[in-house]
Amino acid sequence: MNEKINISRLLSSEIGYSEKLKIDKNIHESDIDAKVTGDVKVTNIQVDEVLAEFNIKISQILVCDRCLNEFEQKEDTNFSEVYSKNLEDDYQIINNEIEIIKPVYDEIVSKLPIKVLCNENCPGIKK
Ligand SMILES: [Zn+2]
Repeated sequence: MNEKINISRLLSSEIGYSEKLKIDKNIHESDIDAKVTGDVKVTNIQVDEVLAEFNIKISQILVCDRCLNEFEQKEDTNFSEVYSKNLEDDYQIINNEIEIIKPVYDEIVSKLPIKVLCNENCPGIKK
């Protein structure tokens, strides 16, 4: 699960310069089974610091905690993250590359409800 993107050209461009990149990725990682499509706009906001604005559609297979059936959940989401060369930051620029799937994964995990339901009125397992 990772996709590194070389941003050398962006880093050597003037502040404010941005590039848009396509994302089309399947994520299979521990509990997550998702397909992600969309794009990320990466902007050079400071020396050695870029802003990544994600605009993606997430389609994931979840298992209902009540009836145990699998169902598909689709959602559009927008969020942004800063990447820097500061090793203390969550997302870093390493060798002029950034990794764009980890923040998407983190976003999916952070949005997972504590209790997953196929629908609010799910009757549960029929006996
Ligand atoms: Zn259910």
